[in-house]
Amino acid sequence: MNNKLKLSLLGGLIMVVLLVVKFSINNNQPTVTLPEAQAQILDREEVVNIESGMTFSTITEQVGLEDSLMHELLEASQDEYDLSTVRVGKPIKFYFDRQTGEFKKLVYQIDSEEELFIEKNGADLWQAECKQIDYEVRLKTISGTIDSSLYQSAVEQNVDIRAIIALADVFAWTVDFGMGIRVGDTYKFIFEERYRDGQYIMPGKILAARFVNDGKVIEGYYFEEGLDEDGELIDGYYDPDGISLQKIFLKNPVDFKYISSGYTTGLRYISAFDISTGHRAIDYAASYGTPVRVVGDGQVVYAGWNGSYGNFVSVRHNDTFTTNYAHLSKIYISYGEKVEQGEIIGAVGSTGLSTGPHLHFEMVKYGTKINPLTVDLPSDKAVASENLDNFKQSIIQWQEQLKN
Ligand SMILES: [Zn+2]
Repeated sequence: MNNKLKLSLLGGLIMVVLLVVKFSINNNQPTVTLPEAQAQILDREEVVNIESGMTFSTITEQVGLEDSLMHELLEASQDEYDLSTVRVGKPIKFYFDRQTGEFKKLVYQIDSEEELFIEKNGADLWQAECKQIDYEVRLKTISGTIDSSLYQSAVEQNVDIRAIIALADVFAWTVDFGMGIRVGDTYKFIFEERYRDGQYIMPGKILAARFVNDGKVIEGYYFEEGLDEDGELIDGYYDPDGISLQKIFLKNPVDFKYISSGYTTGLRYISAFDISTGHRAIDYAASYGTPVRVVGDGQVVYAGWNGSYGNFVSVRHNDTFTTNYAHLSKIYISYGEKVEQGEIIGAVGSTGLSTGPHLHFEMVKYGTKINPLTVDLPSDKAVASENLDNFKQSIIQWQEQLKN
């Protein structure tokens, strides 16, 4: 290596070090450790953007890894992440020694929160580890007056639409963004923006928000209470008194014997003439006539015969969630009626396209059917009394900023 090249490499390294130090200061938590930054300069990086039809085997072949090495990597990672399920649209990065060409490390971003690393450990064996992605977090405050919709108002200000959806989620149970919004309503909210290597990636959490809806002030604050016994974070959105802004759905709409058909999204072959795109619902097998309860407060937006659904009820809970109940033998409510959580809206039957008495239950979020058994549904817990003082202390700064 000539001296000029060495110097420019050294210059590049110093630049990176300075950048890393700068980010660390901004963030208070160093996001990139120095050895890693150095390694990334010294190693050659090869990025494969996963396309349809690619498998881990074809990807590794493309970057020139031996078949045996590919198997070692699969094996090393199997307890951390199943690399045979790598997804289309995501990049997978391979690092090679610049001098020897030797493969050193694999990095795969599993989702927005986690990355998988595979590299050799001290015993010269491949070792996989999932690491939390440390974003640089910057806070952003947005405020506005609604002329037509919250969405429109936010779009006019170039706010990331994902932040607006998150904001609407926080207030889904307290503000009806579809029908309850009035011209002249105002809003102000503070949220996180996530950056990586100086690039904006995505919005993070909504931290605090204030709405004035038809003259009524509605506030919401994010608060973390710590970990529960399973190590899960206890967090949520609360009003200034520490009462949850969200309400929980009933776990099941019916006393059922068993789930006869779960939620699937893949193509399903039914007969020579019929291919389904999945069963985006839960089928609860239950006796004919078993009462069916609505899982949350809402308004009936459909009650009556609906083709293959048979006797069908649809309840809109808020701007976010709707639930559907099909194959009913009886319907006890009517269109437009307001219903309360737990109210009996019908009885299990086998009307429409059904092979036996069961409740076909669908949950719809923003117009898309979701799996009610796995979706992360809101909790309705209030801040625990022992944490209430902490909570009230923590929101003072937000309340100041939101007032103006
Ligand atoms: Zn079904």
